[in-house]
Amino acid sequence: MLLDAHCHNDQAGLLEFQKQNGIQAIINCENRAEWQKNQTWVKKHEQSNNTDDNDLLSFGIHPWKVNDVDFKEMQPLLKQAQIIGEIGLDTVWTSIPLEQQLQVFKQQLTFAFETQKPVIIHTKGTEPLMLDLIKAYPNMHFMVHWYSDLNYIDEYIQAGCWFSIGVDLLESEVSMSLVHKAPIEKLFIESDGMESIKWAFDDEQVQFKQYQALLERNLQAIADIKQISINKLEKIMSANLCDFINV
Ligand SMILES: [Zn+2]
Repeated sequence: MLLDAHCHNDQAGLLEFQKQNGIQAIINCENRAEWQKNQTWVKKHEQSNNTDDNDLLSFGIHPWKVNDVDFKEMQPLLKQAQIIGEIGLDTVWTSIPLEQQLQVFKQQLTFAFETQKPVIIHTKGTEPLMLDLIKAYPNMHFMVHWYSDLNYIDEYIQAGCWFSIGVDLLESEVSMSLVHKAPIEKLFIESDGMESIKWAFDDEQVQFKQYQALLERNLQAIADIKQISINKLEKIMSANLCDFINV
């Protein structure tokens, strides 16, 4: 089974496509409306599915959205979510001052620590600062999503992080380096949703079939680099998911 370790329900029909094609996903939610929509979907399918490969939900206030939603107001949803995220810091893709992002990030990080939940991390332009922040919580489980800095890879691996590798694996020197260096027990693949694929490949016309093909392509690439079969890698990634969510 394919596992998309970080995606957004950002195009009608994506979750249905995943289900029809045996793709399990961690679906990210960043506001109440997304939470309700995705939770309804997950609950409906849990009832008709006896396997243990149900979709999982993550909830977190994204660094680009720290002015749109309030931590206190979102706390009930953070409580319900099995995974906190994506949360983080970004000095490249948003003009929101870092101080504002830090405040909301730290609130959520503390919340995840106190409730012993795993965390999906967004870091862009803030990699050394983020490293310091997460190293203060050595027993927490962090999945760094689509890591994109050639520096600090060894340090993040040493900090015990999991990594979800972005869709542009074969086009990205950083992702290739990360896959070579990180233990296989710490690796996942992700799409980050349809919008991210369109952005990464500068193609507005990307279809669901291409979404699946990209995940399969990247899984094959990791299997080749790690010199194991696709089947074995899929099993390892399922086991990785169990490890990641069991804080
Ligand atoms: Zn994302």
